[in-house]
Amino acid sequence: MVNHNRGLLIVISGPSGAGKGTICKELLEKNDNLFISVSATTRNPRAGEVDGVNYYFLDKDSFIQKIEAGDFLEHAEVYGNYYGTPKSKVEEMLLSGKDVILEIDIQGALKVKENSQEGIFVFILPPSMEELKKRIIKRGSETEESLMTRFKSAYQEINYVSTYNYAVVNDEVHEAVKKIESILTAERCRVDRIKENILDSKEGLIHEQLYD
Ligand code: 5GP
Repeated sequence: MVNHNRGLLIVISGPSGAGKGTICKELLEKNDNLFISVSATTRNPRAGEVDGVNYYFLDKDSFIQKIEAGDFLEHAEVYGNYYGTPKSKVEEMLLSGKDVILEIDIQGALKVKENSQEGIFVFILPPSMEELKKRIIKRGSETEESLMTRFKSAYQEINYVSTYNYAVVNDEVHEAVKKIESILTAERCRVDRIKENILDSKEGLIHEQLYD
């Protein structure tokens, strides 16, 4: 019997300060079958960030070599730095049945949508623009200039919500996480995902009763 147990590919994006990182962290803590893809980037590590854990920190030449070698599922330039999703690890995890989260920007999400048949696209929204601004300032890791850049692009980015499958407002992290877990539960029950499994097991049962 064929086992159709490929994991789900979950693309999570939303503007800086919407709380994607915190949500993904809690999702991972609560769900053993989830894997989060570690991206490569050319930006400098922030205090406390570890190579291979938060990102693979690469110089620009190495990054470009990887683009040319076709190593990325998608890549994009965000705020003047390159970011990319390593393709082989994501595929390996999906094949092994793990659900894989890509926490990537909107350009990257659009590329995944164009290039791949799969993907559940979840857009994380802040409760309000005022709150978003507060969160970006509170993070405090940005210079005044990059803070303004991030805030301005958040205004633009929110327009892309219509290209996603789901929108989750991150008012309270636990609630947002619960909503995403419910989305994943519903996705696992979708007939177009599981019909072969159901039909195969039905055939298997008849076969057993006739011949065993
Ligand atoms: P940060 O520099 O704050 O860690 O991330 C900046 C933006 O880059 C965030 O919106 C983040 O989701 C996005 N990002 C992180 N990794 C990737 C990636 O592999 N591909 C794309 N397209 N965006 C990414």
